[in-house]
Amino acid sequence: MRALILSDIHANLEALEAVFADAQARSGFDVIWCLGDTVGYGPDPGACIDRIREFELVAVAGNHDCAAVGLIDTSDFNDAARAAAKWTAGQVDAGQRDYLTSLPMVSVQEPFTLVHGSLREPVAEYLLDRNSAAGTLALLETRYCLVGHSHIPFICREVEGGAEFIEFPEGEPVALGDQRQIINPGGVGQPRDRDPRPSYAVYDTVDIVIERHRVTYDIAKTQEKMRAVDLPVHLIERLDHGI
Ligand code: ZN
Repeated sequence: MRALILSDIHANLEALEAVFADAQARSGFDVIWCLGDTVGYGPDPGACIDRIREFELVAVAGNHDCAAVGLIDTSDFNDAARAAAKWTAGQVDAGQRDYLTSLPMVSVQEPFTLVHGSLREPVAEYLLDRNSAAGTLALLETRYCLVGHSHIPFICREVEGGAEFIEFPEGEPVALGDQRQIINPGGVGQPRDRDPRPSYAVYDTVDIVIERHRVTYDIAKTQEKMRAVDLPVHLIERLDHGI
């Protein structure tokens, strides 16, 4: 079985389609594991929800998914994120809203636990340092954990006395091994590691390896759609820079 691991699609349909095309051209996939934030920031929230639901899908909630349906308030969002969340809430239809409302915070797909932010705070905490990694490792009941939220790809391995972040290499299979670890596949729709190319991962249950890939897409087309519906300029420009 091959699981396509996607996080932070953020209503960017062009980025999502580029990932699908690339994944299908490699060895394909049997199921999507979506780590949250399918909506928010981008111009195609409803279409992105419908598109991932065409496949076998396991998904957890992200903060933007929750904000779009009023499950969390947006007081700790910055101005641009709040404006986009408000716009997004008006774009999703009843079925899409039901879908977003129904998303669990955590999903166990052995040997992985899927969560958007962290196990301490599923839709709020950014897992980016040893302290937050230790907090999640302490709660983790499976061998591996998949997170998104920061839009930064990494592998974090449990080591004696803590956790150690290493690079999640691009285009080469990583054997998972016995060590407990937390893995972020990077962001599809709004990468933030200073590389504007969508990032995704595939887990292969036969070889027990995980692989990360990046793709190019028509950024200008997404930006044009964002301009047409008056989404904040900052959100439009950041797609060029991967920030
Ligand atoms: Zn996000």
